[in-house]
Amino acid sequence: MTTTAPRDEQLWSRCDGCASLLYRKRLRRNLDVCPECGAHARLDAPDRVAQLADPDSFTPLPDRPVRVDPIDFVDTLPYPNRLGAARTGTGMHEAVLCGTARIGGQPIALAVMDFRFLGGSLGCAVGELITATAERALADEVPLVLVTASGGARMQEGALSLMQMATVSQAIAGLREAGLLTVSVITDPTYGGVAASFATNTDVVLAESGARMGFAGPRVIRQVTGATLPEGFQTAEFLLRHGQVDMVVPRHALRGRLTALLAAAQAGRRAARRPALPRQASASRPATGAVAGPPTAGPERDAWATVRAARHPGRPTTLDYLETAFDGFVELHGDRLGADCPAIVGGVARLGGRPVMVIGHQKGHTTAELVAHNFGMASPAGHRKALRLMRLAARLGLPVVTLVDTPGADPGMSAERQGQAAAIAENILALTVLPTPVIAVITGEGGSGGALALAVADRVLMLENAVYSVISPEGCAAILWSDSSAAPQAARALRLTAADLCRLGVVDEMVPEPRPAAHDDPAGAAELLGRAVAANLAPLLDVPTATLVRRRRHRFRRYGAAQGMGVHQ
Ligand SMILES: [Zn+2]
Repeated sequence: MTTTAPRDEQLWSRCDGCASLLYRKRLRRNLDVCPECGAHARLDAPDRVAQLADPDSFTPLPDRPVRVDPIDFVDTLPYPNRLGAARTGTGMHEAVLCGTARIGGQPIALAVMDFRFLGGSLGCAVGELITATAERALADEVPLVLVTASGGARMQEGALSLMQMATVSQAIAGLREAGLLTVSVITDPTYGGVAASFATNTDVVLAESGARMGFAGPRVIRQVTGATLPEGFQTAEFLLRHGQVDMVVPRHALRGRLTALLAAAQAGRRAARRPALPRQASASRPATGAVAGPPTAGPERDAWATVRAARHPGRPTTLDYLETAFDGFVELHGDRLGADCPAIVGGVARLGGRPVMVIGHQKGHTTAELVAHNFGMASPAGHRKALRLMRLAARLGLPVVTLVDTPGADPGMSAERQGQAAAIAENILALTVLPTPVIAVITGEGGSGGALALAVADRVLMLENAVYSVISPEGCAAILWSDSSAAPQAARALRLTAADLCRLGVVDEMVPEPRPAAHDDPAGAAELLGRAVAANLAPLLDVPTATLVRRRRHRFRRYGAAQGMGVHQ
């Protein structure tokens, strides 16, 4: 926002976005977001802290002595003169404001960068202050929240400023090891060394609406490549589309989103810390049938009729279940490698008050929705997003619930180029040893490797009208019958219904659906699903992690031919 004239400075501002003349007090009340066009004006660090932290909760960290001008740098002005001017101009000692605070009642350590101070550049003092904040988070066992605004490393401090990227990252690694949540909030602009370290190597990356982030700035890219950059390049929406950030959040919603994430992490930590009770019945039961006794199976249904029910366009999707069976879903996006696959959705949510990480395939009800979500066929980026969320859940002590509904993994050329097979393989591997409880529910189609990439779990549940198979009935018929119209016979031969798979031990429990099927009563189906997941999850929560993983591996060791598993007619 540009002030109109010195005399009116206190009263009026002109919006940089739409040029509206705005009453300053009104603009401040609106968190410096233009009420006309929604442009987010840059905030200085004290204003940002005031907006984010609970009132009167911020306590600055004590300043540490840091060497000023470590390499005696002089350009047209000696560096100490530039520092002095920045201090006078901003009233700040350095380009970051650090302390402890509360957000939504939850204690955190907080570092907020200030772009006014030498472009928010990362020098030794800034690196030291942010590292000290991370160390304070570790000592207090609280999450770390970083608000970034920076042009990059501070060249006046030479290679020593470059080293700050590693110094701060190392402190973040310490928080990861301790299972403490780290969140960065990217504000405009975040570039260079800050973008390439602690702005993006945190657990969750939020981009404020209007923020731009990148490694190289637009001017550098144009100079080096001669390319014309497209509209919206490096904006928050661009970053979301390309898998770089978990979400784009308008300023008004930042506190709310942070509060939800902090609450989930806090609950996960409490759960993870709870001492295991070795004498408790649940801890000594075998992995199979731990909850419901022997696998349950309903009356026989024709396999082909079940396939058709599983594919019914009205069947509840993962997002439907997240709306109904779970509460407070905060969706996390992106694989951090270049894409956000719409066929897999995931994020933190609550089930019966307990935070969990939910990851599932997303289809849709209309043709447009189905196309938008690639019919629930995940790309390698989708599998990598799922993997990132599984590992995040394990670090934070959150159980994982997966909802499987896919005809199969994306079989396209681009998926092959990006390593579809390896992406699936990596998820299977990661799930076998994931140190947190995992419940998988086959809710619709459990198609082949794409399904298993989310279904290596402690308990595998399956909805009554879901199917789970190594290949689609059509695919099987085309290969073995040389006739895809033999799909109904193939469906019967493949033993892909919940009843069959309970008998085979592939599935532990069948989740009943309202009559005649879930699409006739989605709310009823959601209630049954929520109840089944909660009942299966509860006994796993007290099992020590090592035992949990050992049992999971045992569960998937029992399918060999030597185990004498056979189809009972
Ligand atoms: Zn405006």
